[in-house]
Amino acid sequence: MRVGILALQGDVREHARILVKLGAEPIKVKSQEDLTDIDALIIPGGESTTIGILIKKYNLDKAIREKHKRGMPIYGTCAGAIVLAKDIIKSKQPLLGLADISIKRNDYGRQIDSFETELSIKDIGRFNGVFIRAPTIKRFYNGVEILSEFRNNPVMIKQHNLLITTFHPELTDDTRIHEYFLNMAQEYKQVRDMQRDIEKNPYL
Ligand code: GLN
Repeated sequence: MRVGILALQGDVREHARILVKLGAEPIKVKSQEDLTDIDALIIPGGESTTIGILIKKYNLDKAIREKHKRGMPIYGTCAGAIVLAKDIIKSKQPLLGLADISIKRNDYGRQIDSFETELSIKDIGRFNGVFIRAPTIKRFYNGVEILSEFRNNPVMIKQHNLLITTFHPELTDDTRIHEYFLNMAQEYKQVRDMQRDIEKNPYL
């Protein structure tokens, strides 16, 4: 399985390390070309303004939106979650705007700027959530499924082919959330392979 990691800024290596552990092939995505032959895409944590600006600069916004429309799974962690949101409270930074959520940056306040806490995740179970200047998801709509919450705010959600965590599983040795994402990618890959076969041989 070829899994792209948007490699414009942020903790790309940490995601790559987990993907390799799970037997997937990480592909660094820096241009439209890098997007052509991947089964899924991860948008890492980092600085969401920078990532959003660079996505535009490298003309990746349209191409990523197109891939999303075709069903390719996309997973955003922290800054990646912000870039995927439809709306950021009190900010006009550039976004991909794919997930029906309204998000607020750096919303845990100075005292607990960064922290770890045990989360309970649907279908996964207990998980050590590493939060670093994390946003909170303030509103969600259109069939967003909440997979985990902390202090009454969703911290992990799924909406069709989008997966979002406001924390960083890539900074732990726990591979279960990436495994969950790879399962989403596997389903997409199967459909895509089938479509390719049909295109090659319409009499199948
Ligand atoms: N605070 C960062 C932002 O708003 C996100 C931090 C992170 O990805 N750990 O972009």
